[in-house]
Amino acid sequence: MKNQWKISTKVVRGGYSPKSSEPLVLPIYQSTTYKYDDADFVAGLFDLKAEGHMYTRISNPTVSALEEKISLLEGGVGAVATASGQAAIMLALLNICQAGQHIVAASTLYGGTHNLLAVTFKKLGIEVTFVDPELPAEELKKYIRPNTRALYAETIGNPSLNIIDFEKFSYIARENGIPLIIDNTFATPYLCRPFEHGANIVIHSTTKHIDGHATSVGGIIVDGGNFDWNNGKFPELTEPDPSYHGLKYYEAFGEKAYITKVRVTLLRDMGPSLSPFNAFLTNLGLETLAIRMKQHSENALQLAKFLEGHEKVAWVKYPGLPSHPSYSLSQKYLPLGAGGILAFGVKGGVEKGKNFINNVKLASLVVHVGDIRTYVLHPASTTHRQLSEEEQIASGVSPDLIRVSVGIEDIEDIIADFDQALKKA
Ligand SMILES: *Cc1c(COP(=O)(O)O)cnc(C)c1O
Repeated sequence: MKNQWKISTKVVRGGYSPKSSEPLVLPIYQSTTYKYDDADFVAGLFDLKAEGHMYTRISNPTVSALEEKISLLEGGVGAVATASGQAAIMLALLNICQAGQHIVAASTLYGGTHNLLAVTFKKLGIEVTFVDPELPAEELKKYIRPNTRALYAETIGNPSLNIIDFEKFSYIARENGIPLIIDNTFATPYLCRPFEHGANIVIHSTTKHIDGHATSVGGIIVDGGNFDWNNGKFPELTEPDPSYHGLKYYEAFGEKAYITKVRVTLLRDMGPSLSPFNAFLTNLGLETLAIRMKQHSENALQLAKFLEGHEKVAWVKYPGLPSHPSYSLSQKYLPLGAGGILAFGVKGGVEKGKNFINNVKLASLVVHVGDIRTYVLHPASTTHRQLSEEEQIASGVSPDLIRVSVGIEDIEDIIADFDQALKKA
């Protein structure tokens, strides 16, 4: 029944469903450990033959309820929550990629993801090629090698706000027998469900819109259950695992092979699990995702239109504006709204941009996006400062770019604040 619900019902009612006289609200199971009656049952747990909780590093009832809800929202077959979005990206890729192998990623990525892939993965012996996602399929294909194990992109690129062409990317992934892994953080499953457009794995930084209130760092990996791991390229899923007496994940778990392996090997061995308390807060925030995303998108579109007509503004990027290069892709993949993030440049360049930021009163200068408040940021001097100027340009950060995370305050107050700060800049 739950699968048939509309998304606004799923965010409220999915995941936890209490039985008679159980707590109405998802409880915080603040326990590291679980009690058993029977030694054989515990043996079955350790052999992955019985279902149940072993240890909170691997699973926990509060965390499981959140995983179940987000998997339901995305239309996946299972999910694993992690301590952060970065941990989700790391585990999602290490689950199927090792030293000597290769990943192709869109160049328009969150700065933290870029560092993880370009610097830390390189040290681990995994090479990543960053490609311009606007290239035609025939050009993009040339970057795939025999040892390429995944294609990676964000639904809404950060911070140029380009929308990924799912049809093109999923075609290239299918042709080459590799999964398409999508970071859906900016869109959320309310605005876009990548599995419906050919993606195979979705990750989120739940720190952003899913929590929505800036209280809890967290991440999640969702498995679409729609990839053939048995195509000869993924022996880690089809060959025996010595750490479970020769268990073969694909044979034992079928469409849940990938997500089961994330939990029982990487979460077990590396340990970046989400705490029950953060899962509780994240779930509480998630309950209002639908109405928040609607309001974020409406406010962002109105602010984008206002800025586009403002004499002090040089340019505006918002995928819901006809002037954005991704406008038609946003109409196709994000029909309910283009999200809460926009970017613009103040006439006069870097200095005027900084003046604008110093003069906003309602909006706050914050290195964060995707919660109920309106935030402004200058990426070139903050989130993307570790990148060279060429890398900044390649990832869509021009020196004058101001990123705005539009909150759900009254749009008239937001516009009045931007107007007065632009006049002072
Ligand atoms: C913030 C963010 C991340 C990293 O998530 P953390 O929860 O901060 O580790 C990854 N991808 C995108 C698009 C983000 O905005």
